[in-house]
Amino acid sequence: MSSTPAPLAIRMHPADNVAIIANDGGLPAGTCMPAGAATGLVLRDKVPQGHKVALVDLAAGQAVIRYNVPVGFARQAIAAGSWVHERLLDIPPARELKDLPMATLEAPAMEALPGYTFEGYVNRDGSVGTRNLLAITTTVQCVAGVVKIAAERIERELLPLYPNVDGVVGLEHSYGCGVAIDAPGAEIPIRTLRHISLNPNFGGEVLVVSLGCEKLQPDRLLPPGSFPIQDSRDEGKGLDLVCLQDDAHVGLMSMIDSILERAKPHLARLNARRRQSVPASALVVGVQCGGSDAFSGVTANPAVGHMADLIVRAGGTVMFSENTEVRDAVEQLTSRAATPAVAEDIVRELAWYDQYLERGRVDRTANTTPGNKAGGLSNIAEKAMGSIIKSGSSAISSVLSPGEKLKADQKGLVFAATPASDFICGTLQLAAGMNVHVFTTGRGTPYGLAEVPVIKVATRTDLARRWHDLMDINAGRIADGQASIEELGLELFHFVLDVASGRKKTWAEQWKLHNALVLFNPAPIT
Ligand code: CA
Repeated sequence: MSSTPAPLAIRMHPADNVAIIANDGGLPAGTCMPAGAATGLVLRDKVPQGHKVALVDLAAGQAVIRYNVPVGFARQAIAAGSWVHERLLDIPPARELKDLPMATLEAPAMEALPGYTFEGYVNRDGSVGTRNLLAITTTVQCVAGVVKIAAERIERELLPLYPNVDGVVGLEHSYGCGVAIDAPGAEIPIRTLRHISLNPNFGGEVLVVSLGCEKLQPDRLLPPGSFPIQDSRDEGKGLDLVCLQDDAHVGLMSMIDSILERAKPHLARLNARRRQSVPASALVVGVQCGGSDAFSGVTANPAVGHMADLIVRAGGTVMFSENTEVRDAVEQLTSRAATPAVAEDIVRELAWYDQYLERGRVDRTANTTPGNKAGGLSNIAEKAMGSIIKSGSSAISSVLSPGEKLKADQKGLVFAATPASDFICGTLQLAAGMNVHVFTTGRGTPYGLAEVPVIKVATRTDLARRWHDLMDINAGRIADGQASIEELGLELFHFVLDVASGRKKTWAEQWKLHNALVLFNPAPIT
């Protein structure tokens, strides 16, 4: 076995007055820190892994600095070497959304990175799929059980006849009826569903199953002209639709048989597709984090940020999201916007979200979970600083509202405004057109989606070791001193290209770990 690793404290910026303890299991009181961020410091308390230690004596009211920004104010005097836990900190107030620096930072010089390619499925609208899936769009939750049986039969009976099709996905959700469908916020879940059915991994093949009496009628979900790609209505054949309440259906099996019959021409067209070499600029990578700990912002998220820069340099698209986890870093975002108009879009989205939270009488501080705090993240201000590192360093080129779809010219780094909830963020990034998902976790989550490959990045070696068949990449090697942020970011970039090409499968794909689509519906339910 390897010898016990030396005590290690990690400081993110020279101006920080706290560092986090990296060692598995934390460090006991009395530990004398060797060379590094805390040379000669003697721990006054036992400090758990991922938690903060004071590097200097802090006076009551003094700012606790991490990432060179205040992540809290000391409630009492804190002696050097003490464990700085969340109960010792007051959270700084949220930055007001006015007088912000708008597009003030000059974009860093980033050399183009040509020549990288992956093997993908090119769609008629120019988007590129990384998987070749038959999706069954549904208008309402009522049909979900029937679609599930149909999908199982398609998989068992039809897919062996169409070997180039990777799978069949029922786009099940909780929306469609019992909702205030004309309320102002209702457009968000409706356009989200519409755009998910047009995700690049479904090849432009849209098959809809409806109940018949629901509020969300098929033509409202997919109005004529909403397809940028092929539409059977263009050929005068109407929307390709199976309506369960159709008089022709006698008994459950006739409904299932209808869905199978309608699926066949879609499967035949999907089956004829072949992967071909495309430039890495066709990547649309959604990044997010879930089950975060204090290492998220030290290892995994910085590595993802480096990967994001590589993808942007290769001409691709990276989306970052999670409104409540960027709110405390709003100044950094508005200053990084490519133009003042983009900065205004960021402010507009975050202001809308502030109001949405106010309606529920909460604010961004409702975001942090018990697990975040146990993992060393004291509050949302600290979590936000570690979260936005995922976006890398390039200029923010555009902004998407929840449920919107990327346009062909929206390349580079995009802020897709979404809640931070893992499944809702993932669902909205799917609607935006994501074809690979990169997900970092410190506490650990088995998260996966049926619609796109989800690459999971562990923040700590301990998690990567215990969850060896769930975590695809171990960014804990950065804290262990075995890899640099840049090396891991490059490794991740190559892994993304391999997964996009179908050369590698993620653990979530191998186990078929599929979380539900969860729509963001700010409108009332009836
Ligand atoms: Ca999340």
